[in-house]
Amino acid sequence: MVEALYHRLFEASADAQFVVAVEAGGERFRYLRVNDALVKGTGIPRSVMEGHTPAEALPTALAPLIEDQYRLCLRARQTRLYEQHFPLPAGQRCWQTRLTPLFDESGEVSLILGTARDITELRDFTQTLVSVADALPGFIYQLRRDADGHWSYSYVGKRVEEMFGVSVAEAEADAEALIGLIHPDDRERVIGESLECAERLAPWHSEFRMYHRDGRLLWLEANDIAQRLENGSLVWTGYVNDITAQKRLEERNAVNDRRFQLLVENANDIIYSLTREGRLEYVSPNWSEMLGLDAEAALGQPLIDFVHPEDRPAVAAFLGALFDSGTKQQGVEYRMRHGDGDWRWHTSNASPMFDEGGSLTTCMGIARDITERKAMEEKIRHMAQHDPLTELPNRALFFSHLDKAIQLALRQRQPLALMFIDLDKFKPVNDTHGHGVGDRLLIAVARRMEARLRASDIIGRIGGDEFVVLLPLISGRDDAHGVAVTLCEALREPFAVDHLTLGVSASIGLALCPEHAEESQALAHYADQAMYLAKERGRDRVVVYGEGRRRR
Ligand code: GH3
Ligand code: MG
Repeated sequence: MVEALYHRLFEASADAQFVVAVEAGGERFRYLRVNDALVKGTGIPRSVMEGHTPAEALPTALAPLIEDQYRLCLRARQTRLYEQHFPLPAGQRCWQTRLTPLFDESGEVSLILGTARDITELRDFTQTLVSVADALPGFIYQLRRDADGHWSYSYVGKRVEEMFGVSVAEAEADAEALIGLIHPDDRERVIGESLECAERLAPWHSEFRMYHRDGRLLWLEANDIAQRLENGSLVWTGYVNDITAQKRLEERNAVNDRRFQLLVENANDIIYSLTREGRLEYVSPNWSEMLGLDAEAALGQPLIDFVHPEDRPAVAAFLGALFDSGTKQQGVEYRMRHGDGDWRWHTSNASPMFDEGGSLTTCMGIARDITERKAMEEKIRHMAQHDPLTELPNRALFFSHLDKAIQLALRQRQPLALMFIDLDKFKPVNDTHGHGVGDRLLIAVARRMEARLRASDIIGRIGGDEFVVLLPLISGRDDAHGVAVTLCEALREPFAVDHLTLGVSASIGLALCPEHAEESQALAHYADQAMYLAKERGRDRVVVYGEGRRRR
């Protein structure tokens, strides 16, 4: 009953099985039983095997090799595992065979039980795996730590030789040949982490440094997973990759990033990037210092929203040119809103930025606060056009106003008048009270004239005590004459300067456009002539050009 069961198991086994009788004191072997799997696997018929010796049943070259294995099993008196190649009609096959000796009552081995498995594909696969592994940039390994703490490599890929200058044989003979090359600062961590992951049978991943024997420092990345064997050994199977080049690049990038960051954070200029839609994508931290506005809150906002409405067309044209042409643009000047409600003048350059696909997606800009420069420019322009003493327009500015006013007056067929005013006997004020008093009197004269004229009238100082007045909105000669007389009377009133009461008067010459001239130089010439006439006629009076009679 039991024997029948064994028989069925024997036949049904997927592994090839066979029973060998040991004869003639171990000199001869004979196959007693072979199962179906063996017949199918080897292609040798059952009848050729059963009852026959290996020499009778197997290919000639193979039989002595197989018999050697049986003898080794007899001698060792214990289970033996070996791999054997079989030349078979289907091609070369590889079998892994386990031989188990069975003892008779006298303690002699009388039978050998064989179990064999075709491992050709597994072998091929392993071979392929090793050749693939050798082609990888790193190497695969199997590292073992026995219960007694002894480390050994059961396998290391060939590439250790070029990576570390350590041969496979050296590494397999002494694990320290490789482990000893781990950077001293990383070694404890690497081993600690490996053991800790092995404890949980969790995969381990780490980056660490190792030396090549020639002294070069390498960055490595390792991935492995541990298994625990019954005898308490740990076995890690994994892959180590050389990531030195990548690390170098990362370090270089990190240095560049740090440099860029320092540059940006310490720059006096705002560095910004904009999307194609003109929205702020990045602003450097000094955005807040320079504009008194929150840098974070600016992100995503259109830049143009911060720009003075009058300057928006210039900024829009600048960005349009940049994104349309894809070329660097520079020098746009515009006012930016400041958190304090004021405006700050900025000038900016910007360059297009292209993505990997070559499309222009953003631009990078640098903006500088030029408020002071603008103020200085404004001051210089003002100084170039104004009399520093009275702040009135000087000759150049006054005549440019006059030119424009004449053009407008002619177009609108509207008369205008020009007055030349020279103070009478001003020199004695200087002589009597000093130049300083004379200066302050000139200022007082200017202010008084301003007070008596309309906002649209323009006063200029063109010489020592010589002033000019443009009356752009008069109805005619009498109107202009009336204004001149009012002014003349006003200047006749005494002035209080430095606790002094000073009296001056003025001689005023008047010329009209288009009546006397339609051009500023000629008009000025006539007004000047009229003014000299006023002096000639006794001062403190108004003379209209071309009028013979005296008027006061
Ligand atoms: P007149 O009645 O003929 O106009 O005689 P005047 O004394 O007013 O002398 P005139 O107009 O010929 O010369 C103007 C004087 O004003 C000459 C100069 O001493 C003085 N003057 C010119 N520029 C300044 C100035 O900036 N400050 C002061 N305090 N005096 C000036
Ligand atoms: Mg004078």
